[in-house]
Amino acid sequence: MRAIDRNLGSCPVCHQLVHFPKRDPEHVAAYCPRCGSEVFPRKRSSLEYTLALTLASIVFYIPANLLPMMHVHTFAGTQSDTIMSGVIYFLETGSYLIGFVIFVASIFVPVLKMLILLYLVHSVRTGKSRFPKERQRLYLLTEIIGRWSMVDVFVVSIMIALVHFGGLSSIEAGTGAVFFLLVVIVTMLAAMAFDPRLIWDPTKEHHAH
Ligand SMILES: [Zn+2]
Repeated sequence: MRAIDRNLGSCPVCHQLVHFPKRDPEHVAAYCPRCGSEVFPRKRSSLEYTLALTLASIVFYIPANLLPMMHVHTFAGTQSDTIMSGVIYFLETGSYLIGFVIFVASIFVPVLKMLILLYLVHSVRTGKSRFPKERQRLYLLTEIIGRWSMVDVFVVSIMIALVHFGGLSSIEAGTGAVFFLLVVIVTMLAAMAFDPRLIWDPTKEHHAH
């Protein structure tokens, strides 16, 4: 039995139990009797927002990879590095750990997150009812790994510190870093827009009793 089957829901702000006038998961709203917030049985247009934000993050991810993440000014001149050339630079100079961390935070994690979100939207849209637990775990994973993208910001800070102590002239963030930050923010919003209850709606378990 789901709350929605009894025309019930909970206020997203104060968690008060709310009664809906009739059953319509997308469009029937009620007002929370306690705090007055508008309450919907499911997040409104959840799939559309999640899909639009995920597609936007894919679009931002292209310049994030093509444009330089940073410019390093040394006595020898200026070196500009994209995510990939940065990873290759660190691997070639033997800084395997930094190279690996940048690869995981800048390439592996964001791409995995985009793929999971696209898959979840697709699975709900096609009314897939199998493996709800596994899909919910994937959803929780996107929330956990989203935070790891911020590791990249720390890596850049550490590198800036290293460069300064190493006596090199200066380092500055490139335009690619701005787009990468947009990717991190937009994928985070995409995960927030997704309503994990949609995963369970087509399953038959709530009709068991
Ligand atoms: Zn409320």
